[in-house]
Amino acid sequence: MAGVQFEFGTAVAAYERPRVVAGGRTWAADRLLVCTGDDLQTLYPEAYVGAGLFRCKLQMMRTASYGGRFRLGPMLAGGLTLRHYKNFQSCPTLAAVKERVARQNPEFDHYGVHVMASQNGQGELVLGDSHEYDADIEPFDKPEIDALILDYLRTFLNVPELQIAARWHGIYVKHPRDAYFVAQPAPGVTAVTGVGGAGMTLSFGLAEHVLRSIEG
Ligand SMILES: Cc1cc2nc3c(=O)[nH]c(=O)nc-3n(C[C@H](O)[C@H](O)[C@H](O)COP(=O)(O)OP(=O)(O)OC[C@H]3O[C@@H](n4cnc5c(N)ncnc54)[C@H](O)[C@@H]3O)c2cc1C
Repeated sequence: MAGVQFEFGTAVAAYERPRVVAGGRTWAADRLLVCTGDDLQTLYPEAYVGAGLFRCKLQMMRTASYGGRFRLGPMLAGGLTLRHYKNFQSCPTLAAVKERVARQNPEFDHYGVHVMASQNGQGELVLGDSHEYDADIEPFDKPEIDALILDYLRTFLNVPELQIAARWHGIYVKHPRDAYFVAQPAPGVTAVTGVGGAGMTLSFGLAEHVLRSIEG
């Protein structure tokens, strides 16, 4: 798309068609797309009431760079991941796997842990993740979650000199049933969120779909 102008550090505070108040300035826009992620309070909070949207916090880690000393190859996921993604729901023995994990390591279920590893262009391993929901979400990260992830990683990946360089968390919003949530809370306004853990993958297609539906 040509002619896009980015304005960073410019939070939208209010909109009354066509007047947008953002970053202490006023703009004119016939149409406002509200894609504010997990901030469901600032703009049109009433649009989200009753939708059942919930928040999810994920803890992740990154190792120091291995340079050329270690190449992972393809992204790896361990057995815990079979419990996490719906794509595996049709596997006939999934119930038995879930039962065994719940019996032997209930903390994996408690913190929604499954373990994946990938390597970026700098040679760093990106490791994750956990899933804590709504009332369980705290600003503090839990070292025991990181330990669970690293211990499980070592059961299927022999990584030399594992040195954690960064730890962080992120929060996304998910819809209980649908892949995304769209609402029209006011004239000219479309709110889009709720893409959950697939937003990086879905967002370009979703943006096209939403724009097409607005344009009729
Ligand atoms: C740790 C982690 C790992 C993930 N891994 C994957 C993955 O492997 N694959 C995948 O597909 N997805 C992944 N996701 C999910 C993906 O990141 C989210 O689904 C996606 O970022 C949601 O996009 P969004 O635009 O709705 O919200 P966000 O990405 O949260 O963006 C919202 C933006 O709006 C801005 N904003 C808020 N209020 C205002 C305002 N009033 N005015 C202006 N700007 C505002 C915020 O600053 C923010 O930049 C992951 C998420 C996390 C947290």
